[in-house]
Amino acid sequence: MAVLQKLTSEEAISLEKKYGSNTYKPLPVVLSRGEGVFVWDVDGKKYYDFLSAYSAVNQGHCHPKIINAMVEQAQTITLTSRAFYNDKLGLYEKYTCEYFGFDKLLPMNSGAEGVEAAIKVCRKWAYDVKGIAENQAKIIVCNNNFHGRTTTIVSFSSDSTSNTNFGPYADAFINIEYDNLEQLESALKNNPNVAGFLVEPIQGEAGVYVPSEGYLSKAKALCEAYNVLFIADEIQTGIARTGELLAVNHENVKPDILILGKALSGGAYPISAVLANNDIMGVMIPGTHGSTFGGNPLAAVIAIAALEVVKEENLAENSKVLGELFRSELNKYIETSSIITKVRGKGLLNAVVVNDTEDSKTAWNMCLKLRDNGLIAKPTHGNIIRFAPPLVMNREQLLDCVDIITRTFKEFEN
Ligand SMILES: *Cc1c(COP(=O)(O)O)cnc(C)c1O
Repeated sequence: MAVLQKLTSEEAISLEKKYGSNTYKPLPVVLSRGEGVFVWDVDGKKYYDFLSAYSAVNQGHCHPKIINAMVEQAQTITLTSRAFYNDKLGLYEKYTCEYFGFDKLLPMNSGAEGVEAAIKVCRKWAYDVKGIAENQAKIIVCNNNFHGRTTTIVSFSSDSTSNTNFGPYADAFINIEYDNLEQLESALKNNPNVAGFLVEPIQGEAGVYVPSEGYLSKAKALCEAYNVLFIADEIQTGIARTGELLAVNHENVKPDILILGKALSGGAYPISAVLANNDIMGVMIPGTHGSTFGGNPLAAVIAIAALEVVKEENLAENSKVLGELFRSELNKYIETSSIITKVRGKGLLNAVVVNDTEDSKTAWNMCLKLRDNGLIAKPTHGNIIRFAPPLVMNREQLLDCVDIITRTFKEFEN
């Protein structure tokens, strides 16, 4: 039989269980097709996608413009390596630098690689420019952060499942509370070797924690006062997800280093990037960083198309308008609800908090019911369900989804 035979849900799930490293606990639904805001399972059942592959598919599944660019380039040349120039990378770098307002771009693949690259740029800047003594540079990070899965990154995670038994840990990070300016200031004041502050403008994985208004702009001002780089991890919050092109734009903050990933490809390909101005990115010289696949021509044309779609289809504005509608509709429901206590978020990055203990199964069971009712979402830490549909959704679809969600929650009211 052919390797790629047609599978039932049960077969697909059992194959992954038997042969895959068991690092995930997926919701039991086996997807085989996607288009726009919808996905279909192997039996042809249709769902609204309310995760968007953790905000990688902001432009909607299989966006024709992105896929056409991808297919055309795939038939031309896919990979040259950086041993040679290619005729697409420079165009991508120029377009993306102008799009986000930076001088230079460092191309990588996964989000975690983007964060790693940003850490390297920050440290090199610390030694070459700021004048910190060799190997002494520290980076401030926040509790409950999520920046990826590499050994360095998990070493400053406060999620014990992600780092227990993966030590020894990199001892170059200072953890402080998120949304706490006093702790930031005292960490800056007490540690002259701080080179950077790495932060998510909204903590997505942790459960969509939106910091107090003014937090980001005041944190940026503190970083400036202490000559420390403000590094924004916008891998999840960026590219129109929160109702602005970048979540830092809500507070008119310009990061010193910007990290992008996920929706930079619209979900078609792993593409991440680090952006900074010449005074910072200039520290990187030949040999200091690299990636076999980073900056390949296939990625370059996909990213350009993905970013064009965001502008052409006004996805930031749509995300802002629909996000407000979503929260106001859910708030109407929450007023009468005993099972949902809160909805929070910005744009179309939202979460609801379930009124049950951290370790209860309620959020998981709700997601199973949502699935049965035609909408897929996933609990994030504890009893929180994240809702992040593709940004190409329209108003009528959003109201349809609100109806599915509130109807499902009602089944859990007691
Ligand atoms: C998803 C994510 C990452 C890691 O991206 P990968 O592509 O999974 O390596 C890093 N930071 C944030 C904020 C993310 O949401």
